[in-house]
Amino acid sequence: MKRFVMHNRFFWLFLVVMFALPVLPHPVHVPEYWITLLNYIGLYSIVAIGLVLLTGIGGMTSFGQAAFVGLGAYATAYLTTQYGVSPWLALIVGVVITGLVALVLGLVTMRLSGHFLPLGTIAWGLALFFLFGNLDMLGKYDGINGIPVLNVLGIDLESGRHIYYLIWVVVLLSVLSVQNLLNSRMGRAIRALRGGGMMAEAMGVNTGWMRVVIFVYAAVLAAVSGFLYAHLQRAVNPTPFGLNHGIEYLFMAVVGGVAHVWGAVLGAAILTVLQDWLQTLLPKLLGENGNFEIIVFGILMVLLLQYARRGVWPFVARFFPRGPQAHVPEHAEALPQRSKPATGEMLLTVNKARKQFGGLVAVNDVSFEVKAGQIIGLIGPNGAGKSTTFNLVTGVLQPTSGEITFRGQRIDRLTSREIVARGIGRTFQHVKLLPTMTVLENVAIGAHLRGHAGVLRSVAKLNAAEEGRLMSEAAKQIRRVGLEQHMYDEAGSLALGQQRILEIARALCCDPTLLLLDEPAAGLRYQEKQQLAALLRKLREEGMSVLLVEHDMDFVMNLTDRLVVMEFGTRIAEGLPEEVQKDPAVLEAYLGGVE
Ligand code: ADP
Ligand code: MG
Repeated sequence: MKRFVMHNRFFWLFLVVMFALPVLPHPVHVPEYWITLLNYIGLYSIVAIGLVLLTGIGGMTSFGQAAFVGLGAYATAYLTTQYGVSPWLALIVGVVITGLVALVLGLVTMRLSGHFLPLGTIAWGLALFFLFGNLDMLGKYDGINGIPVLNVLGIDLESGRHIYYLIWVVVLLSVLSVQNLLNSRMGRAIRALRGGGMMAEAMGVNTGWMRVVIFVYAAVLAAVSGFLYAHLQRAVNPTPFGLNHGIEYLFMAVVGGVAHVWGAVLGAAILTVLQDWLQTLLPKLLGENGNFEIIVFGILMVLLLQYARRGVWPFVARFFPRGPQAHVPEHAEALPQRSKPATGEMLLTVNKARKQFGGLVAVNDVSFEVKAGQIIGLIGPNGAGKSTTFNLVTGVLQPTSGEITFRGQRIDRLTSREIVARGIGRTFQHVKLLPTMTVLENVAIGAHLRGHAGVLRSVAKLNAAEEGRLMSEAAKQIRRVGLEQHMYDEAGSLALGQQRILEIARALCCDPTLLLLDEPAAGLRYQEKQQLAALLRKLREEGMSVLLVEHDMDFVMNLTDRLVVMEFGTRIAEGLPEEVQKDPAVLEAYLGGVE
C-alpha cells in the first residue's frame, strides 16, 4: 500500500508539472519553443498509445498509423475550409471515416496470416499518401491552408499554450481509455491474443474479430491526433502522413516499451526531443544538410533490441501507478450456470473418428464415449494419436471422417470457440497462460463467454457490475482448485504443477459439463501428481466429467473409471483399468514399448 501511495505521488507531481508548464511566471517561464515541442510529443503520444494496444499487447505490427493520422487531419481540414462545418462535427466525420477504413482494411488483412497485416498497412500507408498528394480537392502536395482555430467552452485555442491543454487532456484520456479497456473482459481477451490466440479461441474469444477491434481502436486514436494536428498547424500537407512517419510512430512505441501504455508517452518524448536535437547538431557536426538523424535512429533501434527489448519504460515504471488491477468484490451476484446432465447420461460419443495427415493415419476410426460423472482416460505410447484425438474433440482439428457428438449434438464441424460455448472446457499439454497477469485475471479469461460488456462499455467503465461477477466466479474456481493463496500472484511465478491447476480453474470458469485435460501430469513431481489426482476426484464427486489424455499409466490407474488405449492411431483396448492393465495387447504395445 505504501508503495502504491508513492507511485501516485510521483504521478500527481507529473500531472501538476505538466499542467503548470505553460503558465509558469517569468524566471521559470517556458519558451514557446518548448511548448511547441510538448505539443508534438502529446500528438505523437496519442498515436503511439494506439500502437501499444495494437503491437505491444495485441502482437500486430502496423506501419500505416501515419495514414490514419492523415485521414483525421484531412477530414477536418477539408470540411472546415470548404464547407464551414464545425470542427467538432468534422472530428466525428473523421473518426467515423477512419474507423470504417480500418474496419475494411482489418477485415481483409486479418483473415490472411500473420505477415499480411504489416504488408497491408505499408501498402495502405503509401496509397493514402499518394492519394492526399494527387487529389485536386485536397490541394495536392500543397495541402490545405486556413484551417480555423478550435474553440472550447468559448476559449479560442489560438496559441500553442492554449491548445497544449486540449492535447494533453486527450493524451490522458487516451491512456485511461486503453487502461480501462485492458482491465476488462475485452482487455483480457486482447492480452490473450499473443502467442497465436489458440488459447483465447479455446476460451471462446473470437480472435479474428478482436484483432479487427483493436486495429480500429488504434486507427481512431490516430485520427483524433490528426484532428488536433490540423488545428494546431492550421494547415495540412501530405508529408507528415507518409510511410516514414508511420515507421517513426512504431519506433516511439518500441522505445517507450511496447507493452506499457505510459511507455508510449515516454517513447514519443524521447524520440521527439532526440530528433529535434540531432536535426540541429548533426548537420553542424558533418557540415552538410540531410536527415542524418535517421542513421542514429537506426543504430539506436539495433541497440535497443539488443539490450532493452522491453523499451525504456520498465526503468521508470516504478514512479508511476501500475494501473488498476482486477480484484474480487465483497459481494457479487453469481453468474448463471448451464443445466447439468444427470449422472450416467451420455455426454460425448466419438464414433469412428478418423484423421489423416497426408498418407499418415494419425487417428484410425477410433470410437469411445464419456458419460456424465465419469473420468475416462485416453492412454497410449508417444505418437499413438492421443493429442490428435483430443484436438478433434476440441475443434482444433476437424476429422477426415467419423462423427463426434456432445449432449446429442454433432460437434465435429464446429470451431473450438463454438465447442467451448457448448460446455467442453480444456487445458493444454504445454501450459498456455499469461505469465505477467495475476492468477485471478488468468482464470477470469475462462469466463469470457459468460460476460457481455464490449469495448465501449469497458472504456467508459460501465462494466463494473459484470466485472465483479466475473471476478467472483474466477475466485470461486480458484478456491475450488485450492489456489487461493496465489490469487494475486503473477501466473508466471507459480510452479508447473500449480500452473496446470490454474489451467483447470480457467477451464472450470467456462462452466463446462466436460473437462478435457491433455497430459495434466506431465512434468509434475510425485506430490504434485497426488494433489492433481485428489483434485480430479473431488471434481468428479461434484458431478464433473473428465476426459484425460495421459501418458503416465500409474497416474490413471487409480483415478479413471474406464480406459481407452491407443497405439498407432488405432484403439487397441477399452475397459476398466484393472482389465486393460492385464490385456496382453496393451502390455505388449504400451508397457513393453515405452517403459
Ligand atoms: P500422441 O499425442 O499420442 O503422442 P499425436 O496425436 O501427437 O500423438 O500424433 C500422432 C501421429 O500423428 C504422430 O505420428 C504425429 O507425428 C502425427 N501428427 C500429429 N499432428 C500432425 C500434423 N499436424 N501433421 C502431420 N502429422 C501429425
Ligand atoms: Mg500428445
